[in-house]
Amino acid sequence: MRETPVKQMVRSMANITCSKCNLELDESHFSKNGVHTYSICKQCRRIITARRRYGLTQEQCVWLFNQNKCQCCNYPFMDQRQQHIHHIDTGVMGIVCHTCNRILGQETNEDLYRIDCCLAWMQQDRKNPFDRVNPQGRLIEVPSSTTRSTHLESKICRLCKQDLPLINFRKDRRWYRGECFQCAAYLTAARTFKISYEQVVLLYSQINCDCCGCTFTSKNFKAIHHIDERILGIICDSCNRRLGQETGKIANQLNACRNWILSDDDIVRTVWRHAEVSRND
Ligand SMILES: [Zn+2]
Ligand SMILES: [Zn+2]
Ligand SMILES: [Zn+2]
Ligand SMILES: [Zn+2]
Repeated sequence: MRETPVKQMVRSMANITCSKCNLELDESHFSKNGVHTYSICKQCRRIITARRRYGLTQEQCVWLFNQNKCQCCNYPFMDQRQQHIHHIDTGVMGIVCHTCNRILGQETNEDLYRIDCCLAWMQQDRKNPFDRVNPQGRLIEVPSSTTRSTHLESKICRLCKQDLPLINFRKDRRWYRGECFQCAAYLTAARTFKISYEQVVLLYSQINCDCCGCTFTSKNFKAIHHIDERILGIICDSCNRRLGQETGKIANQLNACRNWILSDDDIVRTVWRHAEVSRND
């Protein structure tokens, strides 16, 4: 017999029993893979992953995921996706929010140094970066294109005037763009921040982070640090990721992370002690 729409609805609202924890939960607790619904609830799946990835016990995972606020900054978790198991090379340190996880990094002295730099830099009165980058109002020096590359398939970029192999240009149907990939990225930045292409080139010609002073590398690359459209400086990726949008919360979180790293408490053991207590309850 065909199901009536009402029966269909009732069936779709029926609870599912998790094959792992045996709890009867509604559909929202189970993730789907196409039409197939997993027989294990989302929470159990997270625990299985965490156990496998970090070598934790079931009890430790349950205790961690039951925390309703970040163990570092104490801001409440709005939903489960904000919970991050923070671990460093030596093991799991606790459960923290996404921001703290990013700020803490590997909890090395270098991470601590960057946190201090970020806190100090935010306090500074940051001037227009162009006053500093281009004191004389000098125009940028465009590399000369007198030495033609030996590449047969090359093209001169309309902006930087460099003679570059064709792989440096985006191809639209049959034609190559007039500007190289690098210049195209600069143009995007120019549009985003409402500045000129030349100003972007000037900003990117800087070699040290405005915040921590480190030299940029391919791994810790430079970024234009901005809040909305206001450019505050050219900083390294490590600092940029820590500062984010410099919301009101961020200074508190940087300080909390600073204390977390400096604290003598062995957080790992504190975590497991709690787990032990709840297990024995
Ligand atoms: Zn379950
Ligand atoms: Zn936090
Ligand atoms: Zn170019
Ligand atoms: Zn930096």
